[in-house]
Amino acid sequence: MSNIQALRGTRDILPDEVTVWQNMESTARDVLHRAAYREIRPPMFEQTELFARGIGEATDVVGKEMYSFEDRGGRSITLRPEITAGLVRAFISNKLFASGGVQRLWHTGPAFRYERPQKGRQRQFHQLDVEILGSRDPRADVEVIAIATDILQALGLKSLSLDINSVGNGADRQAYRDALVSYLTPYKDELDADSQDRLTRNPLRILDSKDSRTQEIVKGAPSLLDHLSEDSQNHFNQVQQQLSTLDIDFTINPRLVRGLDYYTHTAFEIMSADLGAQATVCGGGRYDGLVQQLGGPEVPAIGFAIGLERLAILLQQLQSIPAPTLDFYIVSRGEKAEPATTILAQSLRHQGFSVEIDLSGSAFGKQFKRADRSGALGCLILGDAEAVEGTVQLKWLSSGEQAEMPQSALLDQADSLRTKIATLRQS
Ligand code: ATP
Ligand code: MG
Repeated sequence: MSNIQALRGTRDILPDEVTVWQNMESTARDVLHRAAYREIRPPMFEQTELFARGIGEATDVVGKEMYSFEDRGGRSITLRPEITAGLVRAFISNKLFASGGVQRLWHTGPAFRYERPQKGRQRQFHQLDVEILGSRDPRADVEVIAIATDILQALGLKSLSLDINSVGNGADRQAYRDALVSYLTPYKDELDADSQDRLTRNPLRILDSKDSRTQEIVKGAPSLLDHLSEDSQNHFNQVQQQLSTLDIDFTINPRLVRGLDYYTHTAFEIMSADLGAQATVCGGGRYDGLVQQLGGPEVPAIGFAIGLERLAILLQQLQSIPAPTLDFYIVSRGEKAEPATTILAQSLRHQGFSVEIDLSGSAFGKQFKRADRSGALGCLILGDAEAVEGTVQLKWLSSGEQAEMPQSALLDQADSLRTKIATLRQS
């Protein structure tokens, strides 16, 4: 029988790599906690209609990339292709708007898109999603941008760049859309096939086409920034001023339009020069129309999503994988000794130590080798003689220093063992 393979575009994150993921998660959690964001955990699948309405039918995500299926009850279900829509649905379903205040929420977990897998692009990938719901204030825009840069900086990432743009409000965009279509229509036949299609469906998306001829044509296109109303211009100016006050460098990129229909005003992306083709680590922006579009009240919002696979790639280029930390490794041999290790390990764990038992039953020599490789600081040795006496040998692996003591004495000196271990860790 042939082996069952993992699905294309999925990856197992193995234990050695998990330390990088835990580092990303704990760093993000710290930064978010200090800014008063609260974690929320919505489900991973939702009614297909949520994404169709919330992301937009004309986007690649909805049009080409969703994992949708009919469940046994005949409903159309979709594995979430991103987190924002589900989070907003949860915000509405649970009436989190009822207090009338601002909600700062975050979530991390997998998302699913049927895409061609390549480095930094998978079919199951992970996002860290951060949102502020309930504020129109440009300080909210600046706050989420600052949080994204803080997380990336706290992880030690360099050579990042931040692009920002304003896509204005609905009316600004409508005016701009008309100007853009008039400009592009004479070039219609020279545009790439996708862009020709978008000319009627979603013309703004043509601005971020990757096709070189289309890019050349787009260079001469009118700028969205020239079509902003006074209010939109004001908002954008304040965002820029405050970013400068915070010493956050940015570039204005008038072609940054994001793939999703619900964005208004600020749009931003953080790229890394060290990622090749999949350079965008973080994408975000304001979406003042989404809550209402999904059946909720009029609640403005802004947020971002960081792609954690891309971040993990950058961190692996940067970090050596930290050695596992283990306090004690227990080796044993003999009918009386082996059962005694279970209770010894358990008692030590209850005192707060990390303990691994060698379960192999192999010769002491082999067990000692594994003890060395385990990264443990101390090796506890139990033969039948010790088991009968109720004693144990403790060997500190870095110095080779060894002593025999009653097992009860070992447990009684937990405090001094802790001090010893802390000293050894520091050296
Ligand atoms: P791209 O242009 O790279 O396809 P996108 O505009 O589709 O990105 P968003 O919908 O803004 O991406 O998602 C936010 C972030 O999630 C991206 O910046 C990226 O880091 C990450 N991301 C998106 N799709 C994938 C994927 N298939 N695999 C891994 N990460 C992804
Ligand atoms: Mg994409």
